[in-house]
Amino acid sequence: MFDCHRFDRGAAAAVRRPAARRRGSWLPATLVPVVVFVLCGGLAAPLPAANVAATPQDDLVWITVGADVFEAAARRLAPPPGLSGGVVLEAFDRHEEVVLTRLPLAAIDALSGIVHADFRRCGGFVKHESLAEAEAEMARLRAPRLAPDVLPFAIDQPTLVGTLAGEVSEAELLSTITALSAFTNRYHAHPSGSASATWIRDQWVGLAAGRPDVTVEFFDHGTNTPQDSVILTIPGSTLPAEIVVLGGHQDSTRSGCLSDPNCIAPGADDDASGIAVLSEVIRLALAHGLRPQRTVQFMAYAAEEVGLDGSTDIAEFYSNTGKNVVAVLQMDMTGYQGSAQDIVLINDWTNSELNAFVADLISTYQPGMVQSTTLCGYACSDHAPWHTRGYRAAFPFESTFDQSSPYIHSSSDTVANLSNGAAHAAKFARLAAAFLVETAIDGPEVPAMPFLDGFETADTSAWSRVFP
Ligand SMILES: [Zn+2]
Repeated sequence: MFDCHRFDRGAAAAVRRPAARRRGSWLPATLVPVVVFVLCGGLAAPLPAANVAATPQDDLVWITVGADVFEAAARRLAPPPGLSGGVVLEAFDRHEEVVLTRLPLAAIDALSGIVHADFRRCGGFVKHESLAEAEAEMARLRAPRLAPDVLPFAIDQPTLVGTLAGEVSEAELLSTITALSAFTNRYHAHPSGSASATWIRDQWVGLAAGRPDVTVEFFDHGTNTPQDSVILTIPGSTLPAEIVVLGGHQDSTRSGCLSDPNCIAPGADDDASGIAVLSEVIRLALAHGLRPQRTVQFMAYAAEEVGLDGSTDIAEFYSNTGKNVVAVLQMDMTGYQGSAQDIVLINDWTNSELNAFVADLISTYQPGMVQSTTLCGYACSDHAPWHTRGYRAAFPFESTFDQSSPYIHSSSDTVANLSNGAAHAAKFARLAAAFLVETAIDGPEVPAMPFLDGFETADTSAWSRVFP
């Protein structure tokens, strides 16, 4: 039977969850009304009129943040000379390019605005549930890296990749981007952010119709955010304990969304374009009855824009429960081509062997594409919580970072401002299809039947394709 329920974390979650504030009321009502707006570097950024010392402990959050962002935020959030208010940021710990600090929850929006305005990043910091979890992140960063890594998969499925990648539809991609950007916003804390999560869930449920083995679930993030992540799982046939993750974030934001449920934040490129890629690969894989050897999970992460809440929660849960994730692909901003290159691989805070594998996928299956590499700093998107926990992650991006979409985090991140509709996103959908097939299926000898039609009958005459 088709499964559509909430992700069951089991006992582990019960242990981890502190006493919950009531769902939907986690914003500190005492702080929101006193948020004021000041012009910083030409962009409006909310400046909380409360300093750290005066903020109740419950309303302070621990974050780890790139040192460059920390320096900028410390400068721009500081109280104006001779005036009260503002936030004094303190570095409680520092390791190389990452700083541990804390700030009022109400200042998270301002921090996000600074990350975007000064660094053109989407994320840039990780919000932690407690000081202990923030310190655990610092410990992970200090841990020596295991190297070199040997990938458990190889490029050896040209027929299957050709079948799926060859059917990528720009119209389908554009349809998903258009629908998601039609929500007033997908801000994690607002009702429209929950409605958009439900929309994604329902779309994926529809794509999985006829596949009783495929599940679509909400992953509830408890007090972190009222927005749920959405996870679609295709169970592995012969290696079910090995998991491949393809993800992107579902939320959108712009300055002012924190206090305005009706803020206009279409987020067409950031990151409806990533969710559209996931939906298109799901559509193609299930339309062809793909039966991967490894378990494949598609994840529409909640609340990326406010500190990677969704992906951090999921990666932490997977790490705590010993799940064997063998590869993670992040899709965040695929629709705007600002550089001469077609696909640009994020080269920092990612797995170098998996990056080389993704580069090979591009040169093998889309040889006409021009590719390069770029840097995006600490925690710039949802690949980061996986990477810091020792999982292999790669992040192909739309442009070099300094040439990526100038419209994100604004009301102008619209379908009209994508590059030629979904033409750019289609390159990423073909890459994601190749990634799915080549990481989840190994070798010519197995499986005998990667495509299977008619699951109820298992009638071999109904196989749409028989692999040699
Ligand atoms: Zn993004």
